[in-house]
Amino acid sequence: MADRDFYEVLGVARDASAAEIKKAYRKLAVKFHPDKNPGDHEAEEKFKELGHAYEVLSDADKRAAYDRLGHQAFTSGAAGGGGGDGGFGGFHDPMDLFSQVFGSAFGGGFEEFFGGGRRQRSGKQRGSDLRYDLEITLEEAARGSEKELEIEHFNACSNCNSTGSRGGGGTRPCSSCGGRGVVARQAGIFVQQTTCPECRGAGEVVSDPCAACGGDGRVQKPSRIRIRIPAGVEDGTRLRSSGNGDAGVRGGPAGDLYVFLHVREHDVFEREGSDLFCEVPLPFSTAALGGELEVPTLEGSASIRIPAGTQGGTLFRLRDRGVPALAGGRKGDLHVKVQVEVPTRLNGDQQDKLREFSESIGEHNSPMQESFFQKAKRFFGS
Ligand SMILES: [Zn+2]
Ligand SMILES: [Zn+2]
Repeated sequence: MADRDFYEVLGVARDASAAEIKKAYRKLAVKFHPDKNPGDHEAEEKFKELGHAYEVLSDADKRAAYDRLGHQAFTSGAAGGGGGDGGFGGFHDPMDLFSQVFGSAFGGGFEEFFGGGRRQRSGKQRGSDLRYDLEITLEEAARGSEKELEIEHFNACSNCNSTGSRGGGGTRPCSSCGGRGVVARQAGIFVQQTTCPECRGAGEVVSDPCAACGGDGRVQKPSRIRIRIPAGVEDGTRLRSSGNGDAGVRGGPAGDLYVFLHVREHDVFEREGSDLFCEVPLPFSTAALGGELEVPTLEGSASIRIPAGTQGGTLFRLRDRGVPALAGGRKGDLHVKVQVEVPTRLNGDQQDKLREFSESIGEHNSPMQESFFQKAKRFFGS
């Protein structure tokens, strides 16, 4: 069951639209929700599987990765392991996902839908997901690296152990909304219902709020977070650091931290997928006579053999000197394009020698020129 095709799980076509995917998920998730199928292990597994399928197919990035790599894109192995904080490793709690999808539209009606028994007005709320933009070098992208980020976010309050309560005094009904979680506001001739700002919809407030967090169970403070960047990431790769977003309200689950990677432009190399390209000047005497040419690679310099008579623009390929593929597989190549360099600032003696050379070589030792003039004849009209 673990590796069923996600499109098959949701019963949609591979080119299904986002709306179709959401519709399919909503229908099936309600059917297999554990609250509707108490004690049914199979339904629970099915619900989990649906959650995973929906989580992937509802996110354009993840869907693209799945289309390309299949389930491999989401096993922690693909990103080299490490507790789900590399690549797309790991999934959200399918229960969280369910409440996210059904959101507040479902909120009030949730108990009615499943026949009650789920009224949990603890005021717990999931923390927000956060975004962090991180610039890295091409070398770091190619080799992978570890980074420590300093982020300013909500942390669990250690003073009250995230309960928000000073002495464990619990909660009392919110006086602003009378415990309803919503307040009515007169707006012209309409009455508008909004989430109660006092209790944020929980319907109750902490009776003896913690002095450090004011009853929220979390405080804003910076944290240092280590993330592992798997080798082969590209510009725009998004890494999820599970649970390192904002702490939840009063012990609710924490959000995730999404790290967006920006690979800085390199002075020497250009990257295309897992291949690297660079241009290296080649002295014209080496081009003519042949010899060795030192070229840069990401792992230091290497030497390539230049055959005699090499023309400018010739590409040399150094196998496996590119960037590793993120999902395993063969490393890319390094393509070196040589630019034949014509010497400048020749002294008189050198100029004489070149003239002598030019005369000695005559007209019949320039294969490119010959074929060019063959082709150009019709333009010159001779
Ligand atoms: Zn506190
Ligand atoms: Zn209230």
